[in-house]
Amino acid sequence: MLLLLAPLHALAVETMRIAMGDAQGDVRVSGKGLSFGSDTEDARFSPLEQEAVVVRRRGSRLELNGAPVMGSAVRFRAGLDSQALRAGDMAVRGDVVVRLYKDGLQLINVIPLEDYLAAVLGGEMPVSFPPEALKAQAVAARTYALQKKLEAYGAPFYVGSSVLHQVYGGVNREDARTRIAVEATRGEVLTYDLAPIEAYFHASCGGHTESGWDALQRDLPYLQAVDCPCGRLPASRWSATVTDAELRAALGQSPEGFRVTSRTATHRVNRVTASGGASVDGVTLRRKLGYTKLKSLDFDAERTSGGWRLNGRGYGHGAGLCQWGAKALADQGRSYRDILQHYYPGTELQQLY
Ligand SMILES: [Zn+2]
Repeated sequence: MLLLLAPLHALAVETMRIAMGDAQGDVRVSGKGLSFGSDTEDARFSPLEQEAVVVRRRGSRLELNGAPVMGSAVRFRAGLDSQALRAGDMAVRGDVVVRLYKDGLQLINVIPLEDYLAAVLGGEMPVSFPPEALKAQAVAARTYALQKKLEAYGAPFYVGSSVLHQVYGGVNREDARTRIAVEATRGEVLTYDLAPIEAYFHASCGGHTESGWDALQRDLPYLQAVDCPCGRLPASRWSATVTDAELRAALGQSPEGFRVTSRTATHRVNRVTASGGASVDGVTLRRKLGYTKLKSLDFDAERTSGGWRLNGRGYGHGAGLCQWGAKALADQGRSYRDILQHYYPGTELQQLY
């Protein structure tokens, strides 16, 4: 990451580009007051006479209702009165880009970053959490999205189509509280050495967050293990049962003599072994047993008949902002700035736009 903030202003940081999917041959785009332009942030849009248009690929060119257009991509926008634009079988806000892609077409939704955040925030943190916790989450999510955007600089989209259902339905729980948290922190981004940070977050750490290296193999100065008040909450405790068969599948051989052989400084499982020589690291074990069964790597294992009982603390990888910890700190009267400084030490909060 060598980009400094000054040139960032020229990068249209205020929009997100989300892949909607691919289409073969042609795609129908419709909306009231439909207009089109080139796929740039400063494009001039020309009104279309119809409320619907068919974009077709012919060879290496694009056609709108049978008329050829310049370039490899066209961007559509609905009129001010109606925000809803339909492309294929989806209704979206913002703009839709149709571009040449492989043998067919690719659709991309371009929406204001602040709208994107308001839509996804409710899926990332319960909207009933205190306002300062929601604001901290809004800044973390904005920073994370912006960092993804910079990482993908020059690419046609920054996040994959799996994010779409999160924005338009599915877990979308946009309401007044998420909108307020996003607006109150508009344009605020966490930086380190003047670049947006990798703002990882998780549900609960169980009492101590994990270092970026131990949790995600990201050795970053602002992802350090810090103490967290969530450890006192009953919600951060969990238990699970794992059968010998499940453990055999995860280890790739007999689970006889299964035990934890090393832990990180925050007590999370670093490596497990079995008598037959099987040995896997904690992150791999969690992926293989499933993230919902093995909610975190901070657990103790107890032998039962035919399997193991795991007693654990926390939910998630443990790096960066702990959401239940943010709630606890907000309940103690701490501000979202304090909360962010606690979980991302050494970072600066900057107003980017
Ligand atoms: Zn925590």
